[in-house]
Amino acid sequence: MARLFLFLLLLSPYLFSDGHIFVYHRFDDSRYPTTNTSTSELRREFEYFKQNNYQVLPLIDIVEKIKANEKVPDKWVALTIDDGFKTFYTNGLPIFKEYGYPFTLFIAVMYTEKKYRDYVSWEQLKEISKYGSVEFHTYGHGHYGQMSDEAIKADIDKGLALMKTHLNYDPNLFVYAYGEYDDRVKKVVDQYNFKAVFNQNIGAVNGECTDAYDIDRSALVGQAPFKLYLNFKELCGVTFQSPLTYPHDKVVKTVEVTLDDHNITDAEIFISNNGWNRVKVKEGKIVYHANKRVKLDRIKIGVKVQNRIKLMVLSK
Ligand SMILES: [Zn+2]
Repeated sequence: MARLFLFLLLLSPYLFSDGHIFVYHRFDDSRYPTTNTSTSELRREFEYFKQNNYQVLPLIDIVEKIKANEKVPDKWVALTIDDGFKTFYTNGLPIFKEYGYPFTLFIAVMYTEKKYRDYVSWEQLKEISKYGSVEFHTYGHGHYGQMSDEAIKADIDKGLALMKTHLNYDPNLFVYAYGEYDDRVKKVVDQYNFKAVFNQNIGAVNGECTDAYDIDRSALVGQAPFKLYLNFKELCGVTFQSPLTYPHDKVVKTVEVTLDDHNITDAEIFISNNGWNRVKVKEGKIVYHANKRVKLDRIKIGVKVQNRIKLMVLSK
């Protein structure tokens, strides 16, 4: 018995892995490989959830646990789709219906309102909302980090008003375009009293330490390592100290992170284009002299302790 207990204890980080939120974009649209998921891959993922007793629940169920500071059950999964591409309606939705999986579709309202070819119509959204919820992903899908407070507010107001007009709905949940945000943008969005706000950083949702206005979602595009993602737990008590703004010379010099848990001695630091690097932790402090060159206009910095993970984004 004691041996079994020890065995379970050793396995426990892997057995108990928090809740997870995934994000999809397009389905069976091979023109855009970085945002596409084939329906055969989607079926493979859904079949895995089903065979391994994952409970796919409405996103709001996870939000409510987070708001109550309660632990999100380990096998809980919520599925989200961003932008409102027509291929969700034509190719993705039938599979969600077949499995009876709820979902939350975050729409960038302008694409629907202006009848962009690749996007769902208001009529289709009405039908979609019979099977899942439709929430808000900005009006114009702009880079909020590069827009003034007034422009961000105007964008949000316009999108919300159109959703009210066409769907008779006041959205509760919000997603930044490109998963880009910073403290200034967050403050503007905070004024709207959304129940929760989501990013697009790989991670997990513990519930007890999750910031309801910065909830991690892992993107499932192409052949995503979804089984690995399902084993991630949220790393609580992380404060990113440096860098806090995008490095304009495109070199990440020193990464500084503090961890509340002073018993941690080893961690890994992630920098976009550079993968994971092992680092030592001294009394909760990581100082990593990286000097790593980055290429993207939007980079992620992350920290991982075994399978516990937390990422953040810096954009130009
Ligand atoms: Zn988007």
